[in-house]
Amino acid sequence: MISYQTTTPGADLLRVESETPVPTGTEVLVKTVACGVCHSDIHMHEGVFELGNDKRLDVHREGMVLGHEIFGEVVAVGPEAEGVQVGDRRVVYPWIGCGDCAACNRGDEQLCTPGRAIGIVVRGGFSDHVMIPHSRYLFDKGDVADSLAATYACSGLTAYAALKRMGDLHKDDEVVIIGAGGVGMMAIQIAMSAMNIDPIVVDINDSTLRAARDLGVTRTFNSSDPKTSKEIRKATGGVYAVLDFVGAESSVNYGLACLRKGGMLVIVGLYGGALNIPIPFFPMNARIIQGSYVGTPADMGELMELVRAGKVAPIDIQERPLSEISDALKDLKAGKVQGRQVLMND
Ligand SMILES: [Zn+2]
Ligand SMILES: [Zn+2]
Repeated sequence: MISYQTTTPGADLLRVESETPVPTGTEVLVKTVACGVCHSDIHMHEGVFELGNDKRLDVHREGMVLGHEIFGEVVAVGPEAEGVQVGDRRVVYPWIGCGDCAACNRGDEQLCTPGRAIGIVVRGGFSDHVMIPHSRYLFDKGDVADSLAATYACSGLTAYAALKRMGDLHKDDEVVIIGAGGVGMMAIQIAMSAMNIDPIVVDINDSTLRAARDLGVTRTFNSSDPKTSKEIRKATGGVYAVLDFVGAESSVNYGLACLRKGGMLVIVGLYGGALNIPIPFFPMNARIIQGSYVGTPADMGELMELVRAGKVAPIDIQERPLSEISDALKDLKAGKVQGRQVLMND
């Protein structure tokens, strides 16, 4: 098999040939058909997350095979694998846990530490084959394109699970979505088409806001001027929930300024920075601030059901060959990518 592995932080990935592994037990070997390139691949490739106040989180690992948005075809199964056959074409749920800790037993495998997340902890999809520990992590995509299907494993799942964090909405509860890039745009689509939500959309980019309006969003605000949060408060009386798909100091503060008492801010984006909030504001405003990290296997099952039912509109995809992975990472980092890049292995 061929894989593209990390060397020193930020350097081109190294093409490595090695023996194709043979599945044992419940394992399933998948031949990569498509693998999306995610912003977190850039963080892992560069080896750092910015934490604000000049602090950084070191995440670099040498010899790692990144890539966690995988669509593939089953080419071999272990002797104990059930419910799966050679030739099955499936989306891979990559956020796999140990299967036997408090988080996993709750169904929150994505919160298992360190877990076995594919393309994060164990070898991922920037490779022509990927080993999956169990067939329960494989999901049918229906008749959507292979490259599009891959993106549901991270950006789609992240968007869907973040929306679910809001819980049941009362009819007057307003929702703000900050950041209408890849994941945010997916959240807007799912909110409108599958959850009957009419979100207020905020971004710093007018062309992105126009794209949201093209999808049917009626209320958009440009957050380059932080005072527009006051307009949102005035128009709504304060919103119940803000989903922040940017995760920067400016976007979080903007989001907090939109909330009414009892409102919640769900932080999804990993842009970076730090927060300084007066503690009394939490009890006085009954404020909820929570993070949302990808989603559970159950969330993935629900999302793929919506996808198969045609309730999730497609996002823009740029397909390119798997061998162009290093250029794909550079282009994404340089902000040259519209929509999602998906590497194709053929
Ligand atoms: Zn991702
Ligand atoms: Zn676990």
